[in-house]
Amino acid sequence: MNFQEILQAIMDLNYKFRYYKSIESLFEYDQWSALPPEGAAYRQQTAAFIGEQKNALYKGDAARRAGEYLAGVSPDEIENEIERGLIRTFLLRRREAERTPEDILRRYNLIRADCMNAWNRAREAKDYKIFMPWMKQAFDMKKEIALAVNPDMPAFDTLVSMTDEGLSVKEVSGQFDILKQGLRSLLDRWDCRKDYAEETRDERLPEGRPDRMAAFAQRLARELGYRPERGGFNDRVVHGFTSFMGPRDARVSTYKSGSSNLIFTCLHEAGHAMYSAGSSDEVAAAGMWGGIEGGFHEANARFFENMIGRSRAYWEHYYPQLQEEIPEFRDIPEEMFYSFTHRVKPTLRRISADEVTYSLHAILRFELERDYFAGELTAEDMAEAWNDKYEEYLGIRPADDTEGVLQDMHWAGDYIGYFQSYALGNIYDGQILEAVKRDIPDMEEQMRRGRIQPVTEWMEENIWRHGCCLTAGEMIRRLTGGGLDAKPFLKYLENIYGNAA
Ligand SMILES: [Zn+2]
Repeated sequence: MNFQEILQAIMDLNYKFRYYKSIESLFEYDQWSALPPEGAAYRQQTAAFIGEQKNALYKGDAARRAGEYLAGVSPDEIENEIERGLIRTFLLRRREAERTPEDILRRYNLIRADCMNAWNRAREAKDYKIFMPWMKQAFDMKKEIALAVNPDMPAFDTLVSMTDEGLSVKEVSGQFDILKQGLRSLLDRWDCRKDYAEETRDERLPEGRPDRMAAFAQRLARELGYRPERGGFNDRVVHGFTSFMGPRDARVSTYKSGSSNLIFTCLHEAGHAMYSAGSSDEVAAAGMWGGIEGGFHEANARFFENMIGRSRAYWEHYYPQLQEEIPEFRDIPEEMFYSFTHRVKPTLRRISADEVTYSLHAILRFELERDYFAGELTAEDMAEAWNDKYEEYLGIRPADDTEGVLQDMHWAGDYIGYFQSYALGNIYDGQILEAVKRDIPDMEEQMRRGRIQPVTEWMEENIWRHGCCLTAGEMIRRLTGGGLDAKPFLKYLENIYGNAA
């Protein structure tokens, strides 16, 4: 077989892998919005079957032949970025499929449902001890799998790189330390203005009619550049998410609400969706559509939620329209809306945290996982360590385990080594924003006039069209000339929150 034939073979494998992933995405979409309770058991069997087929692809004869041929090829030497991406992705999946010990994987899959049940029971009882033994088993099996896949690497590095390919724990920790320090200095200054927080503590923004709020939020998403002919809106779920069904099909799911929070959720999910459905025709045809997974995808979503969606320039244009569409806001001055959407207040909940404290929630979870896998923290001590970190970083302590260590489903749901991606998204955003402003110096002026299109076109041209061909590190280097850097994000926060109150 020659190189072209091998390339065709791994492209075929990738296509099949993507078909299975699309089915999984469709299942997830259905699971949260339509699947009836008594349909769940059969669905679980079907999903397990699809998962097995997906994993088996990279163990078959075609994968073995391609693996042998490519053993001597270094992806870095391939010039064409689509081919390079295909080969890099193939080698990763092949290694994982080949080396993952089947017996451990089987045992791991068997305890997953029990793990989730234990988490639910522990939450009800507000008692981490119920979940602890299951979590410990899950973490330790993950560790065994990671060490089998990459025997020369610490387990947590492998787990982190399964979500954020190409990043080492050392590099992430280094940038998180810089970010943490900057955020805490911002918060300390904020603390001096406690009076302000006290004064506005019980005040809230009004709520509009949910149907009107949804119509307005969806219009804003369309005006950003989200095209419903490449997806659509579903409002029957509890937490917002995006389903990546195909190269030109990314669906936005949100909850029903009259709160203006719905707007930010909608802009966030539209950011994921535009990225996922924005690959070039060539990249889509090669099956490399959808964007870089992990922190970089999150960056695209948070960019539209925060960098654009919370900016003063954006609301100078849109606030009068919000007041027009949602009468409950007519007596609320723009300045008040702006200050409410930029309120900084340390809380215990990650998902409703403000833009400043959000990264600290993600960083502390990352640190707990890191310390566990390094053998410096035991499962028995996890709840206490969690509470201590909240006290240290955010100045508040959870009253019980449900508010604390049990609040996210991640550790019960196979998202181990995942939390770093939420804070990485913010770091990438600071770097992306700098690059956008360098290329579009009058970006804010344009937004003030309601023109978001130049920014969206920039994103499409520089980021989206490449699909998942590059790693986040390669992409950031192309955009900025440098590596991962937390300072631009801190500078962005300093501009907005440094002097405000
Ligand atoms: Zn997201």
